[in-house]
Amino acid sequence: AKENGKSDIQIFNSEMRSVSLQKLQLENDLRRAITNNEFVLHYQPQVEIESGQIVGMEALIRWNHPQKGFIPPGDFIPFAEQSGLIVPISEWVLHEACQQNQAWQDAGLPKVPVSVNLSSRQFLQHNLKAKVDQVLQHTGLAPQFLELEITESMTMDVEHAIASLLELKQLGVQVSIDDFGTGYSSLSYLKRFPVDRLKIDRSFVRDIMEDPSDAAIVATIISMTRHLNLKVIAEGVETEEQLSFLHRNQCHEVQGYWFSPPLTADKMGSMLRRITCS
Ligand code: C2E
Ligand code: CA
Ligand code: CA
Ligand code: CA
Repeated sequence: AKENGKSDIQIFNSEMRSVSLQKLQLENDLRRAITNNEFVLHYQPQVEIESGQIVGMEALIRWNHPQKGFIPPGDFIPFAEQSGLIVPISEWVLHEACQQNQAWQDAGLPKVPVSVNLSSRQFLQHNLKAKVDQVLQHTGLAPQFLELEITESMTMDVEHAIASLLELKQLGVQVSIDDFGTGYSSLSYLKRFPVDRLKIDRSFVRDIMEDPSDAAIVATIISMTRHLNLKVIAEGVETEEQLSFLHRNQCHEVQGYWFSPPLTADKMGSMLRRITCS
């Protein structure tokens, strides 16, 4: 038994070693990815149900790893958050999204705002306002075409969150609360947050047709936004049934595979061009 115990410990140690080696490898790879430009942004259209018009788009990062191929954000963003590498990555995302949006506007395409996901680290940075301002100045993008998405978990420190949001709002950018309903931000705080819209998390949207409580939650969030004078968009809308439920409940905007998955910048550009011509 003693010998078994000993070998358990050895296995444990070597597993730990390989986990930390993997992390080290990932960290090195991420550093290289930043300098080698291995990231790209895809864009997912947001549409107004009634008119079918594209009223926004969300920028979503993808990593084109030279050996491992495509890596989804869920596989590296959490690690990038832990290691602090999220800061330079996020700065790249913000700059790239604004530059691309301005390029489309310069090309005469319809002016459609872009939403960028903020990381919690970024949201805690004291110079966030200055950084965002710098990117707007540098790319020439008018602030009303930029929306910043924060999650409920970033608003845990309520006073800090309100102060940061007010600073961002002074720039003239839009702010939304992403994955709404999954966190536990108190509803009474919501009215104090200077945000423009809520994004209903796709976990609620997914089951609205099967689960009466999810349907009730979604309907309640929508009606609450109306009373608070906030805009609202439902995420992860995949089916016609979900769409008509949302429409009936007066949610005006949707994002999801039903209309389109996230697209490369080229494809998003073509989609914008098509609406100009039609
Ligand atoms: P999110 O902000 O909630 O983004 C929406 C995610 O839902 C995206 O996954 C999108 O591809 C996916 N999605 C959209 N429509 C549908 C649908 O109809 N059905 C289903 N099943 N999924 C749908 P993605 O691109 O893999 O991103 C995952 C998460 O990674 C994002 O969740 C966001 O939290 C994070 N992320 C992505 N890009 C960035 C970024 O540039 N910066 C930061 N900080 N986080 C990012
Ligand atoms: Ca988001
Ligand atoms: Ca979301
Ligand atoms: Ca999410």
